Amino acid sequence: MAMDCEEFERVDPSKHRFRRFGCPIRVSPAMEKLRQAARDPGRVIRIFGRGLSALVRAASDLAFPASCAFCGEPLSEPSLSLCADCCDRVGRIDAPFCDRCGRSFDGLQTNGHVCGSCMVKPPPYGKARYAVRYEGDFRKAFIDFKFHGALHLGNVLSRFLTEAYQSHFAGSPVDVIVPVPLHPKRLCARGHNQVVILGEKLSRASGIPLARTCLEKTHNRQPQVGLSRRERAVNVRGSFRTARAGMIAGRKILLIDDVATTGATVTEAAKTMMRSGASRVDVLVLALRPLFSHGPAGPEADGANV
Ligand SMILES: [Zn+2]
Ligand SMILES: [Zn+2]
Repeated sequence: MAMDCEEFERVDPSKHRFRRFGCPIRVSPAMEKLRQAARDPGRVIRIFGRGLSALVRAASDLAFPASCAFCGEPLSEPSLSLCADCCDRVGRIDAPFCDRCGRSFDGLQTNGHVCGSCMVKPPPYGKARYAVRYEGDFRKAFIDFKFHGALHLGNVLSRFLTEAYQSHFAGSPVDVIVPVPLHPKRLCARGHNQVVILGEKLSRASGIPLARTCLEKTHNRQPQVGLSRRERAVNVRGSFRTARAGMIAGRKILLIDDVATTGATVTEAAKTMMRSGASRVDVLVLALRPLFSHGPAGPEADGANV
């Protein structure tokens, strides 16, 4: 027996509609979705917005193809941000290095070697590692990132920090990442702490929480650039304090910084956190700068780098 229209709708109203002249027809799932979306204007706007932004992104990729952040050459894979040549040219700090302070040395021994300096005066941290050398295109990009507001370069630069974390700390238990803080005056002047930006990206990649407020810089001393090793250690002495000892006590900390020369800053910061009861502090620094550089002067030579 044929169903009348009302009975048909009662059987399965979500799958059927009525033709104008009374004969029931089957409605496709896509049509049904459209019908439901029409009842929710907010959803329509959201779907339309997503489609529009995908369209704009595709048009932008066509009009402005992604280019390497260092050399400007077009990229075959936009998500990489760097071409393979530029990525390879960044000098990684590889073994052999001292097991404690992470400084390179000439020799064949690679595992467990501790340099004379660390034997005479063991550092307050467990181990320190540096990702890359502060030179060439990396240095230029870093100066733009830190001093000229090119914050988008944080994505490219943090890749090297994450790479070093995976090489040196992936198997180590770490409870929290702590970035070296800026003095509030310097933070106001610059508008951002570049180490926090790098730390956020490392935290996302590693899944380790970032504690950005548990360590504070209390003294705005003269920049370290131009000082000797000993002068740097004296200059930074007593510069930090822990603001939330509860976040540090008993925790395994990974202290991160952007650039180091002698390691005086991270040594002082690690010492402060160990005094506040941290069970261990390890150090990871994005770039290692030579103590005596003959390269072109950058903003860091003008005393802006602290
Ligand atoms: Zn390139
Ligand atoms: Zn050492």
